[in-house]
This record gives sequence, C-alpha cells and structure tokens, in this order.
Amino acid sequence: MSDPDFINRTVLVTGGSRGIGRECCINLAKAGANIAINYNSRSEDALETAKAVEATGAKAITVQANVTSEESVQAMVRKIENELGPVEMLVNNAGIFEYVTPETTTLDHWKRTVDVNLTGTFIVTWAVKDQMIKQKYGRIVNMSSISALRSRPYGIAYAASKAGIIAFTQSASAALIEHNIRMNGVAPGLVKTEIIDDVDQETLDRINNETPMKRIGQPDDISEVVQFLLSEKSKFMMGQTLVASGGRVMLP
Ligand code: NAP
Repeated sequence: MSDPDFINRTVLVTGGSRGIGRECCINLAKAGANIAINYNSRSEDALETAKAVEATGAKAITVQANVTSEESVQAMVRKIENELGPVEMLVNNAGIFEYVTPETTTLDHWKRTVDVNLTGTFIVTWAVKDQMIKQKYGRIVNMSSISALRSRPYGIAYAASKAGIIAFTQSASAALIEHNIRMNGVAPGLVKTEIIDDVDQETLDRINNETPMKRIGQPDDISEVVQFLLSEKSKFMMGQTLVASGGRVMLP
C-alpha cells in the first residue's frame, strides 16, 4: 500500500535478486519507492525482481556488485545516482550461509562468511553515507539473524558475522544519527528461501516444533519489519535489532 514515507524515495536493496531481498524490493515498491536491485551473480533472478517491481508502477534498476569489493560497490552507487538519484534508503540484506561442521570450519570459510555478511554491510553503508550526510537524510536496515543470539555449532562464522552486524548497527547508528541517518536491524528466524536448502527435513521439523507459532518464516514476514524500520512509524528507534522468529527467540 502506498505510503508517503516511501513515495519516490530511492532505495537500494543488496541481495535483492531473490529470497528476503526480493520481497523487500516488491514491498517497498508497493509503498511508492523506486528500487535499485543489487545482485552478485544471478542477473536473471534480479531481472525477475525488477519485473515484479515495475508491475507495481515503481522504477527499478538491477545493479551487479559484489558487496565485498569497495570498488564494485562504489561503481554501483554511482550508477544508482545517475539512473535513479542518490540513495536515500538502504537495506543491507546480501548474505551467505554455508552449513559446516566444526571440523570443516576453515579459515577460508570464516573469511568468506565474515567478508560478505559483515564487511559487506560496512562497505555498502560507507559508500552511501557521505551522500546521506549531504542530503541530511538516510534510513538503513541491516539484516542480522537469530543465529547471533544463540549458539550455532554448525555455523560459527555465520553467527559471529551476524552478531557483528548487531554491534555495527548500535555503534554506526549512534555515529550517524546527528545527520538524520537512522539505522536499525532485523534478526529473522528461519525463513523459507534458498539459503536454507541445505537444512535437512528432520532439522526443519524440529525447528517448527520448537517455534511457538509452529511454522518457519516466509520472506514477507521479514520485509514487513524492514518497511516498518525504514518508515517514520519507527521514528523513535535507532540502533535496535528486532527479532522476527515466530517466538523461537524471545528477548527480555
Ligand atoms: P538467499 O535467498 O540465498 O539470497 C541471498 C542474496 O544475497 C542473493 O540476492 C544473492 O545474490 C546475494 N548475495 C550473496 N552474496 C553476495 C555478494 N557477495 N554481493 C552481493 N550480493 C550477494 O538468502 P535469504 O534467505 O534471502 O537471505 C537474505 C538475508 O537474510 C541474508 O543476510 C541472510 O543471512 C539473512 N537471514 C536469512 C534467514 C533465512 O532463514 N532465510 C534467517 C536469518 C537471516 P545472487 O542472487 O546474485 O547470488
């Protein structure tokens, strides 16, 4: 539904080609924003997201960039400025998860995971922040995970990268708020996307049972929270990471 907080805003969603990112693109387009859909390798998926965005009447562009590369991200931000205008809202959503045992957790795996999930969040934020400071306006949401809040022996690097995002969200939001750049985060529980393809049925059933709402999440369960945090409905919130997990994790 159209929302004045979003009309004609330029929004960048990293990892917007599929999964939660795609749903964020479509949801924010319905609210009235124009969307820059970032992807790393799957251009066809990004084009499919763009079609869905354009079907709402919003403008869409697809932009390839690997969030781990400062050069690639800076080129992406320039392209968005030229084609849609300066980025006003950012969803740092791009992320990877590799299901590894403690024995197969290598330094390469650690570096890859932390690079995309945590360093990528920093690189993209830093690439847009100067323009946001100039325009005295910015709204940013970072994608964490409940893995940051519970022990994850089969995803040590992932958990650490997502905990880093919570800390980044607190500290960076405190640094940027004087420029009217408001940053928050979301920590989803398990959500039905390709990222959980490696999780076996037994584990999925166990998680369903452990979850008070008795279901895993769908991408729109998360995109709605992202929209809330980008909107002025959350105007007194900054540096927070909201848990959306069907009750699987409840914070005091
Ligand atoms: P997904 O379906 O696997 O999508 C991942 C997205 O990230 C894709 O658009 C992918 O682009 C992009 N990406 C990966 N590496 C990238 C890179 N180096 N540079 C730019 N983009 C990159 O995953 P998802 O489930 O939607 O996850 C989205 C976010 O939610 C991630 O941060 C994830 O950690 C978080 N999360 C997910 C769950 C869950 O259960 N699904 C739970 C908690 C948190 P390509 O299409 O080009 O590969």
